[in-house]
This record gives sequence, structure tokens and C-alpha cells, in this order.
Amino acid sequence: MNPITQLARATRPIYKKLSTSAALSSAKPIPTTGYCFELSDEQKALQELARKFTREEIIPAAAQYDKSGEYPWPILKKAWELGLMNGHVPVHCGGVGDFGVFEECLVAEEYAFGCTGITTAIGGTNLGQAPVILAGNKEQQKKYLGRLIEEPLVAAYCVTEPGAGSDVAGVKTRAEKKGDEWILNGQKMWITNGGVANWYFVLARTNPDPKCPPSKAFTGFIVERDWPGVTPGRKEQNMGQRASDTRGITFEDVRIPKENVLIGEGAGFKIAMGAFDKTRPPVGAGATGLANRALYEATKYALERKTFGVPIANHQGVAFILADMAVGVETARLAWMKAAWMVDHGQKNTVLASVAKLHASEIANKAASDAVQIFGGNGFNTEYPVEKLMRDAKIYQIYEGTSQIQRVIISRELFSAAKQVA
Ligand SMILES: Cc1cc2nc3c(=O)[nH]c(=O)nc-3n(C[C@H](O)[C@H](O)[C@H](O)COP(=O)(O)OP(=O)(O)OC[C@H]3O[C@@H](n4cnc5c(N)ncnc54)[C@H](O)[C@@H]3O)c2cc1C
Repeated sequence: MNPITQLARATRPIYKKLSTSAALSSAKPIPTTGYCFELSDEQKALQELARKFTREEIIPAAAQYDKSGEYPWPILKKAWELGLMNGHVPVHCGGVGDFGVFEECLVAEEYAFGCTGITTAIGGTNLGQAPVILAGNKEQQKKYLGRLIEEPLVAAYCVTEPGAGSDVAGVKTRAEKKGDEWILNGQKMWITNGGVANWYFVLARTNPDPKCPPSKAFTGFIVERDWPGVTPGRKEQNMGQRASDTRGITFEDVRIPKENVLIGEGAGFKIAMGAFDKTRPPVGAGATGLANRALYEATKYALERKTFGVPIANHQGVAFILADMAVGVETARLAWMKAAWMVDHGQKNTVLASVAKLHASEIANKAASDAVQIFGGNGFNTEYPVEKLMRDAKIYQIYEGTSQIQRVIISRELFSAAKQVA
């Protein structure tokens, strides 16, 4: 038996046991003891499994997927078989329901050490699923999340449009109610898994009155890829994370049954934004994994490469760059850990999720650029691993809310708290 499968089989019962006592949908009780920086035995086993999977499946294939831009279906299918995907799907949908956001982050950081393009390809489905986990009723969850357990399929999250990214309230895709159905028309852009997903979460405007506040003007729908009128565009040629599938999607007179509305008319904006509390910590964890890879490669290289008769690590100028990179990795990890822990324990983590995503994104970009610097001319060349890290890192400052938008969220909270004190 493949050693990864062996480890997965050994780990699975632990997760099954956990799932009966604490499903993801119900927040875990807050421990009565103080802060603890030790992973549980189950978390260590999961981390080890993901690390092994990364070492054996992701790292050897990463450069080829980066070059070809193919979607990594074979790797995704193996991750699915091992239970390294969909761990948060509730038990009533056939899932094991034992992953918290924290566990998802642990896996994301390990994957991202190997390749963040493959990480986004595998993890993008979690963004599509988050609104259904957050706001779906039992039937919707059973039908659409259950499907992802039965087969290695993925979901996608369709909010951004050619004219509306940061300004989500500017979404123009519209849905009109006709009898028991909604008719959807519009164009989405930059959708991760857009061409490969089985179903989408779609945010559409359902109240045409421009004076209607965003909190009431939009509705969230589950839309199947195979329905007439749904047309994904060509795969976009991106700077980095090239294994991930990013596309525009056109919706033309798509008929959506009323059963596929999440919560109800007007609830969409809150659902779409609320999903980020669960999905931004894993994005931060992915960026941390990339930064850690940059640190690992640069440290190894600095100990081997010699100038002026000594390894470049002996030059204080290089050693200090590496020390700063290590500080970045540690603090980025602590930030995602806190943000994930909070949401898993039922605490409002919106600001901390932004802190984690923003900080790790900046750290990843700095670390990747510093690694290229430490590699000198070799760093600029595709024969060495660090130029890919620099290309892959950039998107962390853009998707799931740009670094500026994270600062908008954090500063807004800061001012609101200050006004309450004043
Ligand atoms: C590879 C990739 C994958 C993606 N995946 C998905 C996905 O799966 N689903 C999905 O819905 N979307 C996805 N996106 C879209 C992504 O979330 C948006 O690109 C992002 O939110 C920025 O929106 P925009 O591109 O329209 O830029 P704009 O909103 O036009 O912003 C342009 C610039 O202005 C800045 N800016 C805008 N408003 C402010 C402000 N108030 N204060 C300060 N600065 C501001 C921004 O930070 C940015 O630097 C993806 C994008 C990419 C590139």
C-alpha cells in the first residue's frame, strides 16, 4: 500500500471519532485553559499527512504544472481519496465534518510549501463551498456538498465581475423572479475553478433600485455548471499560480429553481462577505507556506554558495535577510492560527482574518523577492525554484480582497472602536 494511503487510513478513524463529538457547524467550546501553542495529536497527524503528500505528490509535479498550466486533476483526485479535501463537509452530507478552519489552514500551509498554484486549484473549492456551509439549508447542503463527497468534484465562488472587484456592491449580474424560478443574466470575471467546477455560488443583484442598500439588494444562488446558459470563458494566462484555473463566466437567461436561493431574497451580500471569515485564514496560511519555502530554499543556497572564500550565509548582510524572513514566517503563522482559532470557537474574526491575510501576503512577497536576491543571477532563472515563488506570491495581495481592502476593513474597525471609547 502507498505509504500516504497507509498514513491516511491510520488517521481517518481519529477524524471520524472527532466528527461525532464536534461537527464543524457547531463552534467548538472555548478551552478553559490559557493560550496553547501545541498542536493536538490529531492535528500533528494531519499535518504530517499533508506534508508527506506535498513531498511525494506536489513538489515533484509543481514545475511541470507551472509550465503547462494544466489543471492538476490527478493530484486533486489523490487528495480527495486521502480525505485531504472537503474535511469540513458536515456529517449529514456524507462528510466527516471534522476539519475546522484551523485544520484547513494546516493543510493549506503544507500544500503551499510545495506549490501555491496547486494549493489554489485544490483549495479554491472551499471558497465556493463556504457560502453553502454558512447559509445553505439541509437539503441544499446534502445535494451540493454531498456531491463533492461522492465524487472528486469542485465548486467555485462567482462574485467578481469585469467592472466590480473590490467594490462588491457594484455587481451588475442580475436575477429576476419569474414564477417559481429566477432568471440570471450577467458576466463574472477571474473565477478560480471557473472552468472545472461542477457548481457555483453566484452573487446577483435582485433589487434594481439603486437606492436599495447592498445588505438587501443582492441574492446568493447555487448554479450548476451544466445548466443551459452557463458558459465559462477561456482559461486566463496568469503571471503565477498557473496550475489554477481562472476564467470569466457568462450567464445568459439561466433558469434557477427557487430551491437554489441561499437563505432568501436580499441575503446574498452578507453571505458572500461572511464567507471570508472562514476563507481568508487559509489564504494567509497558503502565503505563509510560500514564505517558508522561500526561506528554506534561500537558507540552503546561502550555506552552499561561496563568495570571497566563504558561504554567503557568513556575510552578515545575507544572514540578516534570512533572519528577517524567519521572523516573517513565524508571525504570519501566528496570525493565521489566531484568526482560524477564533472562527472555530464561534468568535467574530473578521478583522483578524484580514490581519492574517494581509500580513502573510506581504510577508510572502517580501520573502520571495528576498530569496531571489539571495540566489543572485540564478534567482532570476527558471532552472531555480525561487522565481516561481515570486510570480506565485503576487496574487496573495490581490485575490480574496486586495491588501488595500484588508487595510480598509482593519482601519474601519479601529475607528469604530475608538469612537466607542471617546
Ligand atoms: C487569479 C485570480 C483569482 C481570483 N479568484 C476569484 C474567485 O474565485 N472569485 C471571485 O469572485 N473573484 C476572484 N478574483 C477576483 C479578485 O478578488 C479581485 O481581482 C480583487 O478583489 C480586486 O478587484 P479588481 O481586480 O476589480 O480590482 P479593483 O477593485 O479595480 O482595484 C484596483 C486597485 O485599486 C485598489 N482599490 C480599490 N478600491 C480601493 C479602496 N477603497 N481603497 C484603497 N484602494 C482601493 C485595489 O486595492 C487595487 O490595487 C480572482 C482574481 C484573480 C486575479
